[in-house]
Amino acid sequence: MKTAVVTGGASGIGLAIARRLQADGIHVATIDLNPGDGEFAHAADVTDRGAVEAAFTAIRSQLGPITVLVNAAGLDCFKRFTDVSFDRWQKVIDVNLNGVFHTIQAVLPDMVEAGWGRIVNISSSSTHSGAPYMSPYVAAKSAVNGLTKSLALEYGPSGITVNAVPPGFIDTPMLRAAAERGYLGDIDATIAATPVRRIGRPEDIAAACAFLISEEAGYITGQILGVNGGRNT
Ligand code: NAP
Repeated sequence: MKTAVVTGGASGIGLAIARRLQADGIHVATIDLNPGDGEFAHAADVTDRGAVEAAFTAIRSQLGPITVLVNAAGLDCFKRFTDVSFDRWQKVIDVNLNGVFHTIQAVLPDMVEAGWGRIVNISSSSTHSGAPYMSPYVAAKSAVNGLTKSLALEYGPSGITVNAVPPGFIDTPMLRAAAERGYLGDIDATIAATPVRRIGRPEDIAAACAFLISEEAGYITGQILGVNGGRNT
């Protein structure tokens, strides 16, 4: 049985991905700041390489080599560019981009050894279009898309696929918190302007991940698979 790690697996999209992969018969461990009570739920800050390595070591001893990684941990940021302090800039880059660097570097030896692996990075639909007042976040998530493409080329010969799923407008605690703070405008108006006429569900992203992780998706790598109800085409 395969072993997957999902970062940000305690909430929203990451939680839905963890549940879906489990339902698909994969051993799933999660990493999050506040991981909850599950047997394979580990506390780690993805920006802390030592904590990531320690969590992966514990997961390997519980579940064996890790050959599936989904990076869903993320941190948003809503500020006019000139109001973004360098500390905030660095923090948003640290969680959304450097966190992905740490987890992928920590897991790749298992995948190379197995001659098989699946990495899915959850980026953001804001990378298609840009997004005002979200510059550090869009910069970090755009870099994740670029990293995805480079690693796909580098590790394809090792049997490892690397893809990104940029979600758009998914009903999660992160989106609800931003909406409550007035950053997203009128949700009903956004739904009315969305081609499929509904808000996205975390399970929509989980379904895309489940496919990209499957055996039959082995010829798909370096791709950015938008899941956004048609808002970005
Ligand atoms: P969410 O419900 O807030 O889930 C994100 C999870 O990541 C939270 O449990 C959070 O923990 C955790 N996390 C944050 N910083 C972390 C760190 N340094 N180390 C470990 N875990 C950390 O948000 P979501 O909407 O499901 O977002 C999942 C991913 O999708 C994110 O990468 C987000 O940027 C991306 N995304 C979401 C949307 C959307 O419409 N919802 C759109 C585009 C992209 P705490 O809650 O304890 O901070």
